[in-house]
Amino acid sequence: DTAASLPTRSPGTNADLFARAQAAIPGGVNSPVRAFRSVGGTPRFLVSARGPYVTDAEGREYVDLVAGWGPAILGHADPRVIEAVTDAARRGLSFGSSTPAETELAELVEQRVAPVEQLRLVSTGTEATMSAIRLARGFTGRDLLVKFAGHYHGHSDGLLAEAGSGLATFALPGSAGVPADIAALTLVLPYNDLDAVRAAFADHGDRIAAVIVEAAAANMGVVPPLPGFNRALVDLAHAHGALVISDEVLTGFRVSKAGWWGVERGTDGEYTPDLLTFGKVIGGGMPVAALGGRADIMQQLAPVGPVYQAGTLSGNPVAVAAGVATLRAADAAVYAHLDAAAATISSAVSDALAAEGVAHAVQRAGNLFSFVFGDGVASGVTDYAGVQRQEGWRYAPFFHAMLDAGVSLPPSVYEAWFVTAAHDDAAIGRIVEALPAAARAAASARPA
Ligand code: PLP
Repeated sequence: DTAASLPTRSPGTNADLFARAQAAIPGGVNSPVRAFRSVGGTPRFLVSARGPYVTDAEGREYVDLVAGWGPAILGHADPRVIEAVTDAARRGLSFGSSTPAETELAELVEQRVAPVEQLRLVSTGTEATMSAIRLARGFTGRDLLVKFAGHYHGHSDGLLAEAGSGLATFALPGSAGVPADIAALTLVLPYNDLDAVRAAFADHGDRIAAVIVEAAAANMGVVPPLPGFNRALVDLAHAHGALVISDEVLTGFRVSKAGWWGVERGTDGEYTPDLLTFGKVIGGGMPVAALGGRADIMQQLAPVGPVYQAGTLSGNPVAVAAGVATLRAADAAVYAHLDAAAATISSAVSDALAAEGVAHAVQRAGNLFSFVFGDGVASGVTDYAGVQRQEGWRYAPFFHAMLDAGVSLPPSVYEAWFVTAAHDDAAIGRIVEALPAAARAAASARPA
């Protein structure tokens, strides 16, 4: 039992640990959202996680709706995954050589997602999208990239780009340190706006290498694609000799066995992206990500082709063991449970907000969901401008009321909520109990 072997002595209060961390680490965190800047207060320093629960350094347990930002679809520390990882670790941590399990993971992905004919493993989603873009440029011999406002694809230079105002066609740096010349190779368009895509191709069609798109947007809160959008995007890009990179880092193996591609195949008609990127669930909580797609494109990667890409820890055996065990365990029953838990929790939140008169909409893409607040957005939003119109200031008091009651939500209104197959009646019951007070806090919130 892993819990029994954990140290029982408290490592300190969350506040003490945060103070110490801030001295040693910029902002006290290794990824910005963890610092609670958009909700205020003290981040919780976690020491263990099991099933639907996480435990902080003060020994307090929370029902978790972050799930490691997505990977933990089976619940935290699933025994099948822990056993696979432990077994792999005993055999050696890193070989820098091929292993049988890497091929098994690639085959599992290729069986689930038909457009993936070949797969290359990397360690993070950022690497996956960065490499997919280089590959698309190498394959097409073109430089320009189209992305959508509010979509997140990791933190490589060309993807930290923001739409310029007014007449500026090409993007501006979205972070200090991004060269303007690199941002200017990216065109940032409003999401779900096919006219904008048509106009971009009309103006620059022969220079566009690829369109990169979240398969369903979930990094500005959840904003699903309008029916037919992904398919039309593929058709438009192909008409101009460009590729489509469907970023399934967040949605892949979470919203269905075959990710968002699988959801749309069932409901909205099939579309075939040229390249797809994966992360999160594919590593089951360990650093695995991947890019895959058409074999003739994938064959352009080194060592067969001229597009360079590599990694000391790519296909790491311990990480791959977690991914294989997670995908093997994620069967139809797991996805049915995720869908049911998401439906129950999102309607309970919606009912609680409605009972307190808080205008809102549930934004949903499969089992991913989030909320937008305010009369102006109560019929839902379809793009980043819509998300920004909401009364986002209602979220911080809601978040803190839930946290005080032992429920850990994503610490930003711009993030999706993640359920796991371990969210049982007891865990969901705790969430439901906490909601009335949180909804009252959202109702009485005032803009800062
Ligand atoms: N793409 C999408 C859609 C993501 O949600 C993320 C991370 O949240 C990334 C890419 C980047 O992945 P990573 O954080 O592993 O670099």
